[in-house]
Amino acid sequence: MRIYSKEELNNHFLSLTYDDISLIPTVVSNVKTRSEVNTKSKFMGLELSVPVVSSPMDSVTGIAMANELSALGCLGVVNRFGSTLNELFVNGKIAEGIKAVSISLTADDELVEKVAENNLIICIDTANANNAYVLKKCEEIKKKYKVKVMIGNIAHGGTLKDLVNAGADSVRIGIGGGSVCTTSVQTGIGIGQISSLLDVYFTRKEQNLKIELIADGGIKSPGDVAKALACGADVVMLGRMLAGTKETPGEVIKYNDQLWKKYRGSASFGVKMKSEFIEGEETMVPYKGPVKGIINAISDGLKSSMSYLNCETIEDLRRKDTFAILSTSSYLERLPKK
Ligand code: IMP
Repeated sequence: MRIYSKEELNNHFLSLTYDDISLIPTVVSNVKTRSEVNTKSKFMGLELSVPVVSSPMDSVTGIAMANELSALGCLGVVNRFGSTLNELFVNGKIAEGIKAVSISLTADDELVEKVAENNLIICIDTANANNAYVLKKCEEIKKKYKVKVMIGNIAHGGTLKDLVNAGADSVRIGIGGGSVCTTSVQTGIGIGQISSLLDVYFTRKEQNLKIELIADGGIKSPGDVAKALACGADVVMLGRMLAGTKETPGEVIKYNDQLWKKYRGSASFGVKMKSEFIEGEETMVPYKGPVKGIINAISDGLKSSMSYLNCETIEDLRRKDTFAILSTSSYLERLPKK
């Protein structure tokens, strides 16, 4: 069986995603127990205990989620929809725990100033970072304020240098891979998430660019988190994995003896509430209880993966270069059977 390096995965003739690859332990591990493994990681000036960032979606990250993720050593990016951003500021000052907020491309100067004065990371939340207006907004903010800016999304490294030149500190990678995303269906645009990530990763390396990489969309399990980091992501951004938890905005609904919460795309009808072009779905997901349970499961899975792979730190995991490409049957074989 062939063992592939990141570079070889990147040169594969097909576009690949999480279910197409697997991590292979090839050396004797010196890690005695999972507790010896350290999942700490630096991201945009913050020290995270687990490299997890929540998506700025209105059914994922409100104030409660951002606060709880901060307490758990992760990062929540507060959504830009409805009245969430107004609720953030009391007399111009930020209420506890919030470290990052998202803004729209048309956000006014007053909001940007308030966010910058409170030293928050700004996420310019758009579907396509390869857009002159997004780059202009990023450049304007970076010129005026001393803040860190996250932009997105991109699916390929072709424009990475333009993003860096506009001052972006981090970039969300992935177009069409989100679990409630209909972009690829509607537009025919997008590449498998692993191929997108690797293309951007190697572009950054080859062009010696300074920008942090966020694997965004399509991550379904702790194993996918490990794969994204092993493919060079600085952090993962999660929507569905965190959706349905207690801290997400919205109500718990009981239906057919099961508890549910809403999860919907930022470009769905429910968010837009008007008959315009829609690129996102709305759905219900089972209620999962406190988000701490999900973060602990990710942390445990990640630590176990790292101990298999003889990695003591996330940096070691990012350097890992031993992957398999799975046939469909191999992928199916890896799933538990009922
Ligand atoms: P998930 O973790 O697979 O559910 O993907 C979450 C990601 O999907 C987000 O962080 C966004 O990048 C992306 N996304 C969110 N809403 C939409 C939408 O309405 N259309 C397309 N992509 C979306």
